[in-house]
Amino acid sequence: MNNAKDLINEHSFSKSLGQNFITDTNLLEAIVSDAKINPNDCVLEIGAGAGTLTEVLCNNAKMVISYEIDKTLETILNQKLNKYKNLEIIYKDVLKENNQAIYKKFNEPYKIVANLPYYITTPLIFKFLEDINNVNTIVVMVQKEVAERIVAKSNTKEYGILSAIVQFYATAKIKRIVNKDMFYPRPNVDSAIVALTKNSNYEKMTNPKIYSMCVHSAFAMRRKTLQNNLCMGLKISKSLAKEIITDCGLPENIRGEVLTVENFIKLANVVIQKKIV
Ligand code: SAM
Repeated sequence: MNNAKDLINEHSFSKSLGQNFITDTNLLEAIVSDAKINPNDCVLEIGAGAGTLTEVLCNNAKMVISYEIDKTLETILNQKLNKYKNLEIIYKDVLKENNQAIYKKFNEPYKIVANLPYYITTPLIFKFLEDINNVNTIVVMVQKEVAERIVAKSNTKEYGILSAIVQFYATAKIKRIVNKDMFYPRPNVDSAIVALTKNSNYEKMTNPKIYSMCVHSAFAMRRKTLQNNLCMGLKISKSLAKEIITDCGLPENIRGEVLTVENFIKLANVVIQKKIV
């Protein structure tokens, strides 16, 4: 096992940028294997860090693009990775990069493989799910508790906005749980690798934004009924909210957390048909 501190003893780790680096070679290989990376793959990495995962990706994929927000890592990354001709590192906040601009760099659908900076896990996942037609799979390290919310089924305490949105676009699986001792510096919580693979749910509706709006409304206040939450979220009358719910074949006093992804799709389609938003 390399020690990340040997690689980057000049670097002062930024907690606010989510800098918990992986150094264990077996774990790096396991991530690449979970993502089924092969020599024809284009891979987007978010957060090169000290370049340990980047290097394994370069050794296995056709082309790798890695975004890193922290320019102070440039010297370390140059020393380690300059020899790879299939790699481009872009020192930029990936959230500020346009999805189309990323796609154009590859000019073909790509895979995302990353040990995500945890402070922006949800916006990052949502950003790339919205571009799911250009992304083959997303295999990312996230906090274990977030992974459990991503894969949660309806009517459980973990099920919420994150679960219903992710599962609308993708089939989500936890590939492995990763102990916090595998990172340097050691974070406070364990992590998990989740794999998101495009599914056909989102093809069942024309307007994913309305799906998202329905999900956000339904979970706005967990203790309230779906009817109350829809009234507030969609700014509609109680009777219209009730009509929408019964049109979906659901009981009028149902709570949002009981709705499956299929139910939410139906709900969003009824909202679209009725031209409510
Ligand atoms: N891939 C490395 C590894 O596994 O050891 C580093 C992973 S570390 C959890 C996350 C990395 O993402 C850090 O190097 C951090 O500086 C970078 N990062 C944080 N926010 C970012 C952003 N908005 N855009 C690009 N990189 C970011």
